Amino acid sequence: MNSDNQLLLQQVKGNVSKKYWDNLKEEKFMFQKCKDCGFSIFYPRVVCPKCMSENLSWHQAKGNGQIYSYTVVYRTGDPIFKSETPYVVGLIELAEGIRVMGIIIGWDDPEALQIEQGVSIVYDKVTDDVTLPRFKINREGVV
Ligand SMILES: [Zn+2]
Repeated sequence: MNSDNQLLLQQVKGNVSKKYWDNLKEEKFMFQKCKDCGFSIFYPRVVCPKCMSENLSWHQAKGNGQIYSYTVVYRTGDPIFKSETPYVVGLIELAEGIRVMGIIIGWDDPEALQIEQGVSIVYDKVTDDVTLPRFKINREGVV
């Protein structure tokens, strides 16, 4: 990882999302719920986007979900990622009802991926400070 990426990763670790990032290092994927209206929230926020309540709680996701949408990247806008191509960026719907964008791994042919295909969260320790969630294809199919 080059210094540009290091800087980017440091910038995304603000106070609101500190608990999220700290738990990823322990291989736990956390999201929030609104205690007033019950809305499940991701990415981490200070107020509920549905009712504006500040009464939020943290919960651990079980780590299973399915592909809601995805794209296969063959040509990147940034040469940093050229050696990674092709890669797949997916919008994953976790069993808890939140949608998370991330890299999908574990496929043989990216063109054979399907909407609603099952995935599980795996953890990629990028640096000592930053662990990122990745979404690995479940060979068993849809969850
Ligand atoms: Zn709410």
